[in-house]
Amino acid sequence: MTRLIFLGPPGAGKGTQAKILANSCGIPHISTGDILRQARAQKTDLGLKADAYMERGELVPDHLILEMIHERLSQADAANGWILDGFPRNVAQASFLDELLNKANQHYDQVINLEVPDEILVNRLLERSTKEGRSDDTIDVIRRRLEVYHEQTSPLIDFYKNRNQLVSINGDQSMEEVTAALKAAI
Ligand code: AMP
Repeated sequence: MTRLIFLGPPGAGKGTQAKILANSCGIPHISTGDILRQARAQKTDLGLKADAYMERGELVPDHLILEMIHERLSQADAANGWILDGFPRNVAQASFLDELLNKANQHYDQVINLEVPDEILVNRLLERSTKEGRSDDTIDVIRRRLEVYHEQTSPLIDFYKNRNQLVSINGDQSMEEVTAALKAAI
């Protein structure tokens, strides 16, 4: 049973690495960003509510995210483990996850922190926006997403470090090198 949380700034490679690892462990990769993008594309109630926040690079309000993650973690495939990518994004979300897992008598194994310097992230995100046509990846929105990360999400590094559950990995290496470092760490 593997339960992992992936932390790190936008563009650090969380999605790519989480997918690789989830495949090799045979557990679901749960990306709140992917779920929200799908909801947006399908114009569901959640998608319509999340739209304006995502457009600006802001976090979608907690109550929407918490309901969404609660539902996703209750699905059958999540009973055998998971990798969370993009959640939690702030301390309130991390506390909610603690409560949820406590109630289910579950716990996570490790929190992986992928470290990449800001100037590299901006270039990676700009490249990705050209390749994938992601409308949330214009330069202004990229800057805002990084600010939001530093203000709201990076405090989680100390939150988990204080519990001795944080493993930091240098994300400024080739994809294969990061995968190898991750597999060695978990
Ligand atoms: P991501 O693909 O993880 O970078 O997420 C893309 C966008 O979805 C973010 O910029 C946020 O607007 C929104 N989002 C994803 N996950 C969360 C979360 N846990 N809490 C709030 N907003 C989120």
